[in-house]
Amino acid sequence: MATTRRKVVIVGAGIAGLSAGVELSRSGQYEVIILEAMSTFGGRIQTLKGFGSHAIELGANWLHGTKGSPVYELAKKHDLLSMSDGSSSSCSSSSSISSSIFDDNEDAKWYKNNSAEENQYRTEAGECMNTKLVLQAKKMFADAMDKNVDSIHVSEVDMDQNTGDALAQGFAEELKHRGIVNDTKEYHQYWLIYKHCCSMECLDIGSNTLRDAQLKSYDNYKELEGGYYTTLGEEGYQGVLEKLLEDIPEGSILYNTPVERIQYADCNTRNGSVPQDDDDDAVVTVTCEDGRTFRCSHVIMTASVGFLKENLETFFRPPLPEDKLSAIRTLPYGNVNKIFLKYKRPFWNSSDFGLQVLWDAPLPTKEESEEEEKEKFYRMLPGFDIEDRNDDILVGWTYGRGADYMETLTDEEIGQRCTAILRKFLNDPSIPEPEKVLCTRWKGNRYQRGAYGAFLPVQALGKEIEGIQRPVYSNRTRHGQKVPVLLFAGEAFHKTYFSTTHGAMVSGMDQAKVLINFSLVSK
Ligand SMILES: Cc1cc2nc3c(=O)[nH]c(=O)nc-3n(C[C@H](O)[C@H](O)[C@H](O)COP(=O)(O)OP(=O)(O)OC[C@H]3O[C@@H](n4cnc5c(N)ncnc54)[C@H](O)[C@@H]3O)c2cc1C
Repeated sequence: MATTRRKVVIVGAGIAGLSAGVELSRSGQYEVIILEAMSTFGGRIQTLKGFGSHAIELGANWLHGTKGSPVYELAKKHDLLSMSDGSSSSCSSSSSISSSIFDDNEDAKWYKNNSAEENQYRTEAGECMNTKLVLQAKKMFADAMDKNVDSIHVSEVDMDQNTGDALAQGFAEELKHRGIVNDTKEYHQYWLIYKHCCSMECLDIGSNTLRDAQLKSYDNYKELEGGYYTTLGEEGYQGVLEKLLEDIPEGSILYNTPVERIQYADCNTRNGSVPQDDDDDAVVTVTCEDGRTFRCSHVIMTASVGFLKENLETFFRPPLPEDKLSAIRTLPYGNVNKIFLKYKRPFWNSSDFGLQVLWDAPLPTKEESEEEEKEKFYRMLPGFDIEDRNDDILVGWTYGRGADYMETLTDEEIGQRCTAILRKFLNDPSIPEPEKVLCTRWKGNRYQRGAYGAFLPVQALGKEIEGIQRPVYSNRTRHGQKVPVLLFAGEAFHKTYFSTTHGAMVSGMDQAKVLINFSLVSK
C-alpha cells in the first residue's frame, strides 16, 4: 500500500536549507518544498561571474577546515577545490617566512608557521612597518589570545567580562614581559599592530569591537582540522551547492517566494490543552508575501538571525516560546562587507601584494558628530589583498558600523575613498582609480540584515543555541509521539561551527534527521 508522504516546508535555499532538503528527499519519508525569497539559491553563498575574468565570492570565501567538513567532502568528491590554498592577512594566517631573523627559538618556530611577510603594514604617514616588529606583535597578540582568552577557566569568569579588555590586558603584559617601554615609538607601533589584529578578529566574528564579545564563551567556536583558508576552483562556492541541487526533486524550490508568516496551530505555547493522537497533523500554514499559502506538517526555518530579529513580533503565530524569543533577541548579528576594486592592470608588482592599513586614531565613538563619525568608519577597513582568483582585483573587508555606513554610499564613492586610502598609506599619489568597484550590502538585504555574529554578547547565558536547536512541538501526538512542527537550522544554530558554511550544512542535516527519526518512530 502506498503511504502518503508528509509535507515539509523549508524556508530558505541557503546551504542549511538545501542540505536539509537533500536529507529529507533522500529519506523518501517526506515531500519537500523550499521557499526562497531571492531569485537564486545560496543565501550568503553567492558566486558572481562576469565582474572579473574569474568568479568572485560576495559571501563565503573559504572552507574553514577540511577534516569532518561535509562541504569539503562534497567539493572534493566533485573536484571543485582550487589547486592551491588561499592566503590571508589575518593574525592567524599561515604562509612561510624565513625564521632566521628572530633570536628566540620559540618565536622563530611560530613565525615560520604564522607569518605573512608579503603583506605591507603601513601607517597613515605612509611609513612601512618593520617586518620583524609586525611579526613579533602578531605573535604577542596570539599569545595574549591563548593565555587570556582561550585558556581561561570558564567557571572563574563572570558573564559580563568581555574579550576586548582581557586581550588588551594580555597584550600589555606581553609588552612588559619583553621589556618594551611605555611611550616610546616602538611601544606605539606594537599597539597599532594590536589594533589591526583586533580589527581582523572583529571581521572574523562580525562584531563592532571585541568588547561586545563575552569572554566566557569566546572559545566556543571550534576549528576543524585542515587548511583554514581552502578555496574553491572556477565554479566557486555556488558550484558546490549546485551538487546539492541535483539531489532535490525538480520543481521543489520556489524562488522569489518570500515567506511572511508561519502559523503553527495547536502548539505547546497554549497552556493546558490536552494532547490528542491524530494522523492528520498538517497543522502548519505558511503564508507568503504574495498571498500564497502552503499547508504542511513541519517547517524548517533557515533564515538568518538578522531576519529573525527584525521579524520576530509578526512572523510566528502564536509567538515563539519564551526561550526561543529570548535566544533570538540575545544572539548577535553583525555586518561584514567586501569591497572589490578591479584595475585595468595591477599597479602592484608582486603576486603576494597586500596592504594592511594601520589606522592611528581611535575607532568611532557614539559621542562624535555624524561627520566625524563618517570619517572614522573607514577605520573599520583593515586592508586590501589580491582577490583569490583574479590578479587584477583587490578586495577589502569592512566590518561593524563601518560596513553599515559603507552601504549608504554608492560604489563610485566607495571606490574614490579606497583610492584615497591606498594613495595615503602607500604614499603614492599616482595609484590609479579602479576600473570597476563593487561593494556588497549584506545589511541592506532585508532577508539577511547582516552577515553573521560568531560570538555571544556579554550577559549571554550560554544556553541560547541549545534552546533554538530544540524543535517546537505540537500539542498533538502521532502514534504516541509529540510532533515537532517548527525547527530552526542555519549557521547561527550550530553550537561550535557557527558562522561557517560547514556549520550551516551540519545544522540543516541535523534538523532533517530529527524529522526522519520522528517519521520512523511514529509509524
Ligand atoms: C561576507 C561574508 C563572508 C563569509 N565568509 C565565509 C567563509 O569564508 N567561510 C565560511 O565558512 N563562511 C563564511 N561566511 C558565512 C557563511 O556564508 C554562512 O555561514 C552560510 O552561508 C549561512 O548559510 P545558511 O543556510 O545558514 O543561511 P543563508 O545562506 O543566509 O540562507 C538563508 C536563506 O533564507 C532566505 N530567506 C530569508 N528570509 C526568508 C523568507 N522570509 N522567505 C523565504 N526565504 C527567506 C535567504 O534569502 C537565504 O537564501 C561568510 C558570510 C558573509 C556574509
